[in-house]
Amino acid sequence: MVVTRFAPSPTGYLHIGGLRTALFNWLWARKNGGKFILRIEDTDLSRNSQEATRAILESFDWVGLDYDGEVAYQSKRFDIYKRYIQKLLDEGKAYYCYMSKEELDALREEQQKRGERPRYDRRYRDFKGTPPKGVDPVVRIKAPLQGDIIFEDGIKGTIVIRAEELDDFIIARSDGTPTYNFVVAIDDALMGITDVIRGDDHLYNTPKQFIVYEALGFKVPKFYHVPMILNEQGKKLSKRDGAMDVMEYKRMGYLPEALLNFLVRLGWSHGDQEIFTIEEMKELFDPKDINKSASAYNLSKLEWLNAHYIKNSSNERLLNLLKDFNIYLESHDKKEILLDALKERAKTIKEMAELAKEILEEPQNYDEKALKKALKGEWREILTLFLEKLKINEPHLPVDYHKIIEDVVKEKEIGFGKIGQPLRVALLGKLSGPGLDEVMAIIGKEESIKRVEKFLRKFE
Ligand code: GLU
Repeated sequence: MVVTRFAPSPTGYLHIGGLRTALFNWLWARKNGGKFILRIEDTDLSRNSQEATRAILESFDWVGLDYDGEVAYQSKRFDIYKRYIQKLLDEGKAYYCYMSKEELDALREEQQKRGERPRYDRRYRDFKGTPPKGVDPVVRIKAPLQGDIIFEDGIKGTIVIRAEELDDFIIARSDGTPTYNFVVAIDDALMGITDVIRGDDHLYNTPKQFIVYEALGFKVPKFYHVPMILNEQGKKLSKRDGAMDVMEYKRMGYLPEALLNFLVRLGWSHGDQEIFTIEEMKELFDPKDINKSASAYNLSKLEWLNAHYIKNSSNERLLNLLKDFNIYLESHDKKEILLDALKERAKTIKEMAELAKEILEEPQNYDEKALKKALKGEWREILTLFLEKLKINEPHLPVDYHKIIEDVVKEKEIGFGKIGQPLRVALLGKLSGPGLDEVMAIIGKEESIKRVEKFLRKFE
């Protein structure tokens, strides 16, 4: 069975790089009918916050990634880690090191003077004497003294690390708390993780975790180290570029399926297909197809995908999503026409809400440039004739309004633009927006008359 995990350190919000890692792991588990575990790596008690954990869970909930079993918290597993540290000590695979910080600093300085890479010199590895008094020792693991650590990364290929490059690294600090690489390896092994898909910033942690696996006789999982997401300039993605809290995307009006579709394509592809339903992703995703090179964040692609998913959403769903942006349409008699018009045009739910406001609320001012175009020639006679006709008709649907516009066009022998421009500015205050027949059907006959009359009075 395939068992994957997402293992965030709760030091801040979940950002989209993290969500992409989670998605890849989730897809791989779900595709194989396996398990996906969420593990909160909160051993560094000084840097973690419950708020960050809450934010991670909230993001998972919003995008719909589910996990198997309870969330695992490393902070609740200290007893387990202690037991394994003791086991390694008992078996002579780890040892107490009594070197003080000052001694370590001095050693480092000397090594640097000699042009060597600073590293611990293993002086306590086979120490048999009486330990110095007053020093709380750390525990170090015995790394191999010779040979190579070799592993096959599913994305990067064969990785070879020479034993000389590895230290007897610390697995327990002097206060007894276990270190990062140790607990990751213990947990991955005990939780039966078969496939680790994670950012390639962890690539050089892997040999250390290997040493732990080997020492304890654990089975080594398969690793996939995923290249980073870069910005459009090829630099590390910053907050400004989009590396922000996943929930910020909700606040900006993105749909979760658009964000997941966007993320799955950052670093993974299937031919030139761009749009993937969750079901398709599950069917097609395979970590071995993840690109070797970094991928670039591209906001217009996300907008494009979001527009696609908005267009294909039910009006009922959109109506509910708009509530987050203070647009309440339940009792509006023309909500279907309105939502149909909006979803053809908006790239985000936020934009939908803004467009809705522009239609539903009478314009407070008129765009200067639009006025210049609209207040031309016979605009007053044209709008007056339109008003006359509107008043004696009982239009309901866009076609009914279209018919009235058409009648004016015929009677005055003008092009559509001659009525379209002044009418549009009168109704919306500007020249852009949905079709006028739709706008009028949405706001209704009385409101349309009111807006046109106000416009005629204002530009007497
Ligand atoms: N906790 C690590 C992080 O948030 C991830 C560890 C891992 O995936 O092995 O970067």
